[in-house]
Amino acid sequence: MKSLTYADQHTTAWSNYLNQLDKVAPFLGELKDRLDILRRPKRSLIVDIPVEMDDGSIQHFEGYRVQHNLTRGPGKGGVRFHPEVNLNEVMALSAWMTIKCAALNLPFGGAKGGVRVDPTQLSKRELERLTRRYTSEINLIIGPQKDIPAPDVGTNQQIMAWMMDTYSMNAGSTVTGVVTGKPIHLGGSLGRVKATGRGVFVTGREVAGQIGLNIPEARVCVQGFGNVGSEAALLFHEHAAKVICIQDHSATLFQADGIDIVQLMEYQKRHHKIQGYAPENEIDADQFWKIPADIFIPAALEGVIDEHIAQTIQTRLILEGANGPTLSGADEILSQRQITVVPDVICNAGGVTVSYFEWVQDIASYFWTEEEINQRMDNIMKKAVYDVWYKAIHVNCSLRTAAYILACERILIARKERGTYPG
Ligand code: NAD
Repeated sequence: MKSLTYADQHTTAWSNYLNQLDKVAPFLGELKDRLDILRRPKRSLIVDIPVEMDDGSIQHFEGYRVQHNLTRGPGKGGVRFHPEVNLNEVMALSAWMTIKCAALNLPFGGAKGGVRVDPTQLSKRELERLTRRYTSEINLIIGPQKDIPAPDVGTNQQIMAWMMDTYSMNAGSTVTGVVTGKPIHLGGSLGRVKATGRGVFVTGREVAGQIGLNIPEARVCVQGFGNVGSEAALLFHEHAAKVICIQDHSATLFQADGIDIVQLMEYQKRHHKIQGYAPENEIDADQFWKIPADIFIPAALEGVIDEHIAQTIQTRLILEGANGPTLSGADEILSQRQITVVPDVICNAGGVTVSYFEWVQDIASYFWTEEEINQRMDNIMKKAVYDVWYKAIHVNCSLRTAAYILACERILIARKERGTYPG
């Protein structure tokens, strides 16, 4: 399979999103006439970020913050630092956040930001200066009641701490609720790191129950053993499923009687890869999608399930831990083959759900235990997955289409009730 370049995946991102809206339009009844509001971002800001480098020279970087839709609440979405980030991609990512927050029924709109930079090529001081200047440039449109950034590809807790500090310096007081994904000492939330993997498990377990798939007998294959994949694999392992195959960037590990995920996580922590954990069980990477299994969890890359894989994969359930792992043509084939796909906008929304909790805790200045976080998260995710499940049955469509229908209905009804300013 020819792998897609970053540019391939992202230059078409906005048109992919528009195609998804077109698919949903026929299900929206009279709300269809209002769909145009989701076909354009509410606000797109492009900023120049001059940074004094360690050698005294000044380099300019291009940054973005797009607020796609704020009908249901402040914008929510990550900030991506990547050398190929562009406006088209940030627009699409912000739109998917609109859909994700509405599908989960979180009181947020969708937003996303980015800077065209390779963060690995900057010193720590340069990265801090870049982050602080970017934050100052978008300062006017972010805030706890306006738009709340979070980490994404190429950004982390440290960058969120600098963003929070810069915003607070400009505001004249400490404003922890301006970003989420912060370190715990600065108003971060317990449970955030494990949240996305946990959400994959919770949504997967509920849907498995609906299709008569018993978790303790299930064979599971996981692509990606990072933040999302390892936590999802661990929870399936702890609930007596057999995780028979794990693939990361370094190796593909197959063990028919199940891999000990606790031990593999310990190995991965030390070596930052799974290669070498059990060399006798390593197989070729292209064998991954050919393994018969009850559940596949793509939790690494976008666009990995193409039409060929969709035609040949032997499974009952796909849990989209990654964002956009299934290409559009493949989605149709999986649907025809009656393979259930729990779409990314629901399946990997555990992270944004706990980000919502972080924002609530910061505003209330009152922090919850990890048990409370997990309990509340499970409730929200279960409700979301059943809302989508019953919508799919009601209108006879895939779970992905059902999630989009629900999200669009919630946004467009809210828009209708708010009216069009100035009336
Ligand atoms: P991560 O960087 O922690 O882990 C990525 C994993 O993918 C690593 O194990 C890496 O080895 C593996 N990988 C990289 N290239 C690979 C290849 N060619 N073949 C197989 N495996 C490969 O990232 P993460 O936070 O776990 O995110 C994974 C996916 O989930 C991404 O698509 C991300 O956008 C999405 N996601 C993450 C979160 C979150 O909270 N972390 C939330 C929503 C969606």
